[in-house]
Amino acid sequence: MLELKNVSKAYGDNTVLNNVSLNLPDGQTTVILGPSGSGKSTLLRFMNLLEVPETGALTVNGDSVTFGQRLTDAQIRSVRQHSAMVFQGYNLFPNQTVLGNVSLPPVLNGKISKDEARTRAQSYLDRVGMGDRLEEYPDNLSGGQQQRVAIARALAVEPDFLLFDEPTSALDPELAAEVTRVMVDLAQEGRSLVVVTHNIEFARTVAQRVIFLADGGIGFDGAPEDFFASDSERIQRYLSTYG
Ligand code: ATP
Ligand code: MG
Repeated sequence: MLELKNVSKAYGDNTVLNNVSLNLPDGQTTVILGPSGSGKSTLLRFMNLLEVPETGALTVNGDSVTFGQRLTDAQIRSVRQHSAMVFQGYNLFPNQTVLGNVSLPPVLNGKISKDEARTRAQSYLDRVGMGDRLEEYPDNLSGGQQQRVAIARALAVEPDFLLFDEPTSALDPELAAEVTRVMVDLAQEGRSLVVVTHNIEFARTVAQRVIFLADGGIGFDGAPEDFFASDSERIQRYLSTYG
């Protein structure tokens, strides 16, 4: 379970998120929607402390931190071990091969030996359809292939929660579809995914839950079918812009 309680964040006088709470059980796919600037990335980054709220608390599978005070490295690590993030793109290590990119993080975490990490990397790369490109460098791959390697890299640390921030928005439709297919597989396996996206179709067909951010808070939190049937003016306006 991942729980954010009463988290807030402002940049100067721009209050991005005001006293937001949410609770994500394991084994679900949650999609975070909302207009540009509504705080989707900020909220997602709270979940693995890439961004730190000013108030509130985060608990992930038994490990907790309370905000508003200095966090120790040990506290940050304890929470962070439970999740892995996939970004919009271009975040592979450029001077490492595909195999290096996926096998290195678990070794650096001190979790497993190099040999184990390579075996594990190979199996996750097979899963995302990149098992035959082990010695390639990221520059020689398409954006969609790079993104699938990034997913394998996130899987390789065996996190409880996989966090995605617009993983397909920098890709051509065909390449985006390859990446989405991998994400659908992961969702169907019952993994815990939190996905920031403007891909309304993904939200409609894959998610068990939609969280809609607007005006500094959660404007909707519930089942996709209820979200898409909502007569809220704010949601209707969003869907007519992004749908
Ligand atoms: P998008 O759909 O465009 O990615 P978003 O919903 O992910 O938007 P965030 O990136 O979370 O939005 O940003 C929320 C608000 O916080 C925006 O108004 C943004 O300008 C502001 N913001 C984010 N990071 C910073 C920063 N480092 N300094 C100042 N303002 C910031
Ligand atoms: Mg964003």
